[in-house]
Amino acid sequence: MLELAELKKFLEQPRHIVITTHHKPDGDAMGSSLGLYHYLEQHGHHTTVITPTDYPDFLAWMPGNGDVVIYTENIALSTKLVDEAEIIFCLDFNTLSRINQLGELVRASDAIKVMIDHHLEPEVFDDYRCWDINACASAQLVYEFIANKLDDVAFINKDVATCLYTGIMTDSASFRLPNTTSEVHRIAADLIDLGAVNWRIHELVYSNLSEMKLRFLGYCISNKLEVLHEFNTAIISVNKQELEQFEVVTGDTEGIVNYALSVEGVRLAAFIVERPEMVKLSLRSKGDFPANEICKKYFNGGGHRNAAGGTSPDSLEQVISQFKLILPEYKKLLIQ
Ligand code: 5GP
Ligand code: MN
Repeated sequence: MLELAELKKFLEQPRHIVITTHHKPDGDAMGSSLGLYHYLEQHGHHTTVITPTDYPDFLAWMPGNGDVVIYTENIALSTKLVDEAEIIFCLDFNTLSRINQLGELVRASDAIKVMIDHHLEPEVFDDYRCWDINACASAQLVYEFIANKLDDVAFINKDVATCLYTGIMTDSASFRLPNTTSEVHRIAADLIDLGAVNWRIHELVYSNLSEMKLRFLGYCISNKLEVLHEFNTAIISVNKQELEQFEVVTGDTEGIVNYALSVEGVRLAAFIVERPEMVKLSLRSKGDFPANEICKKYFNGGGHRNAAGGTSPDSLEQVISQFKLILPEYKKLLIQ
């Protein structure tokens, strides 16, 4: 493990730096990565954000988006950049399997690896870490890294602030989740003072839907929502044909699970979707219900207590029945 003083010293010279984040990046993954990118660029580092896959269009407005390298679309360049990197920042994930093929490149690299993350049970592959499961977003930890650890708040400019605000806003579900502490609000207020236009960011992320996406959401709610009152659980499932019918692309399904969770009395919600390669589950829960435990135990996944995900190689129908069969095990926690 590296000491903070050593890392600081290392960052005094311009370096080749790669920032990477998890498969199918969300608002926090992109917000924390691009926020750190804009910070490091101001110090003269040669920095690139590499994502393992593409990410939703509703994040494409973010400053620096045009400089992001998507691994699956540019394997040769990504490999070269990881090879040349002297430091690799790993943001919003903590096991290398979360970055697909990039994981092995990162593992093999001699670069200093810095993990900035808020997920449970980190794998040990890093040399320095800012890790706190109580943080509402990795973007919060990037703010604390720059402002407190590096003592460099003066370099949080408008672009850094905009990206970090986006990460905090999206991962806290717009400042709604229990980990939205007063400190999170203080950081958000600082970011607004430093140039983040909060209402505009909210509009760009949440009020910028295509007509088709809104119709798809309506369809999911009116035709596909299943409420299992006995278990205070709601499920929305979508098959391949429905994805095609509504021309669903990356990001279009994000947030739909929250509508299932918003049903009165519901403590656990699942959005189950038949992706081309596998079936993907997104779970959300209220209070102390451990959604991540179900994902870890049954669906090769994990996440946070109230927001978790996983996958299954089985058919959509099988996954839905398997999920329903798990519920009796958790009945006590669901009926409170
Ligand atoms: P989502 O439902 O939005 O895809 O994911 C919610 C959260 O669950 C993510 O922030 C991430 O922490 C976690 N998550 C989602 N999918 C996986 C997965 O396949 N593996 C693991 N370990 N965590 C996941
Ligand atoms: Mn996150």
